[in-house]
Amino acid sequence: MPEFKRYLVNIDSNSTHQLFTDCLVIGAGIAGLRAAIEAAECCNVIIVCKDTLENSNTWKAQGGIASVLNKTDTFESHISDTMKTGCGLSDEGVVDFVVRQGPELIEQLLRWGTEFDQIDGRIATTLEGGHSHQRVAHAHGDETGRGIAEALIRKVCEKPNIKIIEHFYTVDLLTNDDNECVGVIGHDKQRPSGADQIVWAANTILATGGAGQLYRETTNPEVATGDGIAMAYRAGAIFQDLEFVQFHPTTLYIAGASRALITETLRGEGAVLLDSEGRRFMKAYHESAELAPRDIVSRAILAQMLETNTTHVYLDVRHFDKEHFSKRFPQIFELCEGFDIDISRDLIPVRPSAHYMVGGVKTDISGRTSLRNLYACGEIASTGLHGANRLGSNSLLEGLVFGKTTGQLACQHKETGVVHIKHPLIKYQIPPSNRTRLDAADVTNSLRALMWRNVGITRTTQPLSEAQEIIVFWQRYVMDKIFDTPQGWECQNMLTVCLLIARSAQMRQESRGVHFRSDFPNIDDEHFKKHIEITR
Ligand SMILES: Cc1cc2nc3c(=O)[nH]c(=O)nc-3n(C[C@H](O)[C@H](O)[C@H](O)COP(=O)(O)OP(=O)(O)OC[C@H]3O[C@@H](n4cnc5c(N)ncnc54)[C@H](O)[C@@H]3O)c2cc1C
Repeated sequence: MPEFKRYLVNIDSNSTHQLFTDCLVIGAGIAGLRAAIEAAECCNVIIVCKDTLENSNTWKAQGGIASVLNKTDTFESHISDTMKTGCGLSDEGVVDFVVRQGPELIEQLLRWGTEFDQIDGRIATTLEGGHSHQRVAHAHGDETGRGIAEALIRKVCEKPNIKIIEHFYTVDLLTNDDNECVGVIGHDKQRPSGADQIVWAANTILATGGAGQLYRETTNPEVATGDGIAMAYRAGAIFQDLEFVQFHPTTLYIAGASRALITETLRGEGAVLLDSEGRRFMKAYHESAELAPRDIVSRAILAQMLETNTTHVYLDVRHFDKEHFSKRFPQIFELCEGFDIDISRDLIPVRPSAHYMVGGVKTDISGRTSLRNLYACGEIASTGLHGANRLGSNSLLEGLVFGKTTGQLACQHKETGVVHIKHPLIKYQIPPSNRTRLDAADVTNSLRALMWRNVGITRTTQPLSEAQEIIVFWQRYVMDKIFDTPQGWECQNMLTVCLLIARSAQMRQESRGVHFRSDFPNIDDEHFKKHIEITR
């Protein structure tokens, strides 16, 4: 095991460019933006994001946001569906808290300008796998994430006390001797290379989203490399359930194209899965057929691919009205057209991809982490909502709810001016490495392939051990380097997070939710009806 480094870069806080704020929000997806709006009620806020505001998982979300919006639906039903999907590991208090806030926060988004699709003057809802009622609200057909993000960004831009810094790569969370988070060190693309910017903050809200890029096949954008997990790990935060990585069953599979997601709302509205021989196979795997939970559909697709010796299966939407389809699913329609797939004649080739990080930084019901002054919300957080599996469309809802609560915490713990006096002197020096130079991009690609092969949808002891050995070996010569660009830091972070996932997956010797072990194919409540916690 390589020697542990608290920070990835050398730090001398005396000679580094500095900014000060009451509340720093890292990440500009639904969670970070909503947190910033709330915190700005009483704090000065800085939001940083590593690319543009438009590059996030949130922006890409298609299907919608789940909430009880119909008279025929009930909170109890949404709670029960969420608990069922969580396979015994969801925290009912948290589920109740989130579900009950949904309608109000979605109405608020509507007032702030999200153009949810409507029928007869009411927000339209649709059905998705795992939901027993129509409760998924959507905007611009299948561009829900963009619809929500645009409204939140407009709101953020209206607030004079929120400063937005795009292209700011956060390298590490800074902590003082009492293990309190006091801000971050990062790299602002506007400035020369290297981690040359400190932001001191009375409160830091971690909203860095998911980590799909740890896998070769993913629906996530390139910013989703799990940086937040790695930096919180180095800082000493407690994590839970990192073995639970959700794979989306249906992403477009065309060689050379990015793995664009084909929303499961399509299946909710009647699309069926066919294998390469044209057989509808899902009924043989689950009574709900195409509407079975995601993990079951993903494994069924893999099994069917194996049986038919093919690289993908097909989604059949040929029976949809083409005109209606183009309006209801404009993104997918355009995508298919781009590859000369005529949805009224052709089948859509699909296969599963890494999609959502269920586990993450452990928080309480308000979003507090185990480190003082550090809060987490959105996909990076493990609040107890999802348990061992995430119910579709509950993640945007979670980001909204915990964005709000963490923003409120920042207001409660604002100590105006104190941050200017209290920030510690931080000096950290990494011994220079004389080991060979390396190609970080090559390591990253190999790592993503290894994760897909050994720590993917179906897991078993030997490949999990092998993955850990290989990652530890790569870490020996990658972690002692001092990089001065995001590509190098990302590679180091990915190695850290992949090892944590592989270890957690090894520890959970049962199959539950999205974690499937072929050597332990059943749920083992006696030993594993509990969270797997990891900390430095
Ligand atoms: C294709 C796709 C479709 C989806 N569809 C749905 C859906 O229909 N319904 C649903 O509920 N969920 C859906 N999800 C999941 C959902 O979109 C995400 O879980 C949710 O948007 C996460 O929001 P977030 O605010 O936590 O993070 P994100 O939206 O991912 O934002 C993360 C932010 O952190 C920033 N960041 C990351 N690392 C750093 C760093 N080192 N320094 C500075 N900034 C950093 C990024 O730049 C970004 O601004 C979908 C996801 C994908 C990928």
